[in-house]
Amino acid sequence: MIKNIKQLILDPLQRCHKFILAIVITALLAILATPNSANSFDLSDLLRIVPAVIQVVEISNISDADEVKLGSQINRNIVTQVRLSRNRGANNLVKSIGAELVPQSDRPQIPYTFQVVEDRNINAFATMGGFVYINTGTISAADNRAQLASVIAHEMGHISGKHVLEQVKQQAITQGIVSLIGADRNEIVNIGTELALRLPNSREAEFDADRRGLQNLYNANYAVQAMPDFMQKLARNSSNAPDFLNTHPAVKDRIVALNQAIIENNLDGYKGLDNIAYQRRWRSARF
Ligand SMILES: [Zn+2]
Repeated sequence: MIKNIKQLILDPLQRCHKFILAIVITALLAILATPNSANSFDLSDLLRIVPAVIQVVEISNISDADEVKLGSQINRNIVTQVRLSRNRGANNLVKSIGAELVPQSDRPQIPYTFQVVEDRNINAFATMGGFVYINTGTISAADNRAQLASVIAHEMGHISGKHVLEQVKQQAITQGIVSLIGADRNEIVNIGTELALRLPNSREAEFDADRRGLQNLYNANYAVQAMPDFMQKLARNSSNAPDFLNTHPAVKDRIVALNQAIIENNLDGYKGLDNIAYQRRWRSARF
């Protein structure tokens, strides 16, 4: 009887992720370990396990629509902790660059929300489901539109690489959160907010976002050299390092990798090198 039930649960799960299998086995062992379990293991036990398994599957195979919904809930949290800029020009600038990049990105099928954060520190971040945030300090620090575009493309790379989403999933599973609904959902939103605002991305995530961003810039005809140039400029000019270098680590190695990718793949691009016009408008802009 028990053997049959095990097969009933385990066979379909062969196709699933290893940790789900581990959870089911653990649950089964827990039930089997309880006194008289051999006699009491019946359909009600099975019904207890299956919803938990389905919820874990839910969190690991989140749909694009759910990801966008989660991103929007995280956004509601984030806007209580940062000040969004109402400067129409700055918002139009970032949105118009975003509109050029999205169709050329490796994830054009989801909606994107580009927002400007009123903060003089040079930084930018992204969460999931298309939510990208650019500080006003980054707009002022860029030499031209291509450099700003390189930051936006990089942040979009974090979204298409699902970097924050993966971190949220891992933390959620570690903390025993298995569902995307109810109280668990609030916890997941809090984890996502914390990750976006306070925790640096991993080195691997940075290289991946750079690679995706560089390709996106190239596809949209932007001058790709702007990406390593802007990083170089931030690394050079910082007596106290801008937030960007703290939240986006491994900058020196990333510059080397970017320059190498540009040479090896013979990437160029011409758009966005309007230094004088850009700086006249944004270098000393009051946001
Ligand atoms: Zn990054």
